[in-house]
Amino acid sequence: MADATIFDQYPLDQWKEPDHRIMDRFSLTGKKGFVTGGAGGLGRNVAAAWAEAGADVAIVDLPRTKDVLEPLAKELSERYGTNVVPLYCDVSDREQVDALKTSLIDELGTVDVAFINAGVNVPGDDADEPYEVWQKTIDINLTGAYLTAQIAQHIMRDHGHGGSLVFTSSLSAHNANFIAGGPSPVAAYGASKAGIYEYARYLAAALAPYGIRSNAISPGYVWSGIFEGRIVPEAHDLMTAPVPMHRFGTNEEIASAVLFLTSDASSYVTGTNLQVDGGYSVY
Ligand code: NAD
Repeated sequence: MADATIFDQYPLDQWKEPDHRIMDRFSLTGKKGFVTGGAGGLGRNVAAAWAEAGADVAIVDLPRTKDVLEPLAKELSERYGTNVVPLYCDVSDREQVDALKTSLIDELGTVDVAFINAGVNVPGDDADEPYEVWQKTIDINLTGAYLTAQIAQHIMRDHGHGGSLVFTSSLSAHNANFIAGGPSPVAAYGASKAGIYEYARYLAAALAPYGIRSNAISPGYVWSGIFEGRIVPEAHDLMTAPVPMHRFGTNEEIASAVLFLTSDASSYVTGTNLQVDGGYSVY
């Protein structure tokens, strides 16, 4: 038999192995993860997708979401048979995020996957925005992403296993969100989301030696719940006019993209930004 070589790590036809199933790559069986912004549309749908895929999940959000988070965790646990727990934390508060790290280890044992997703779009976020709007946006969206990603990757490294980080950036990280002849009010929001995207890319390079992957998604308009009751059908058509698919995305269309990026289905993907925007970014 020939000596083993470095090239042996590249199987050519894994599908020929009797028990091999490519769909197994999407499984998260036995994995542990947390989702920030877990009470919101994107967050809770990713929590559901992960639980269905076999993971234990901590759904993390502000204490004011308790009435949503408690029954959600119970429903997901019962439906999918994994351990789903609610945890409360303001992601922009260092002490609360440190406490979250302890709670995650207590509740889950470790962290293999993290969806760094909590975010706000503060009213008045235009060219003349007050300092407070800028600061609040950066504190929650960008600093909050940094703080929560830090605890995730430190747990992964301390426990000596790899993992996957997925950050929620935005279409607004890449353009000014053209609507009705001008930009949407996303000045600090877009800056914070562009920062998240580059931070995710940096971590991809820095953490690859530890087997940790880091990627971002950039959703376009997603009917996550935040627009409900706030826009009329005419506004729907106006907003989606520059979107080649002329519609919003759904929470599940985000969840399936995140499942791909957190599972072994994307095991050779790191440092990327996945646009999930109906083609908006093409223009
Ligand atoms: P959402 O408002 O339903 O969810 C956001 C969640 O973040 C809320 O549950 C909120 O309580 C939580 N949150 C806010 N501040 C927090 C803090 N300081 N600490 C902890 N949690 C906090 O909105 P969504 O549409 O589900 O958005 C989720 C993410 O996706 C956000 O980062 C948002 O910017 C981003 N995004 C959304 C869209 C869209 O069209 N819905 C598009 C692009 C990006």
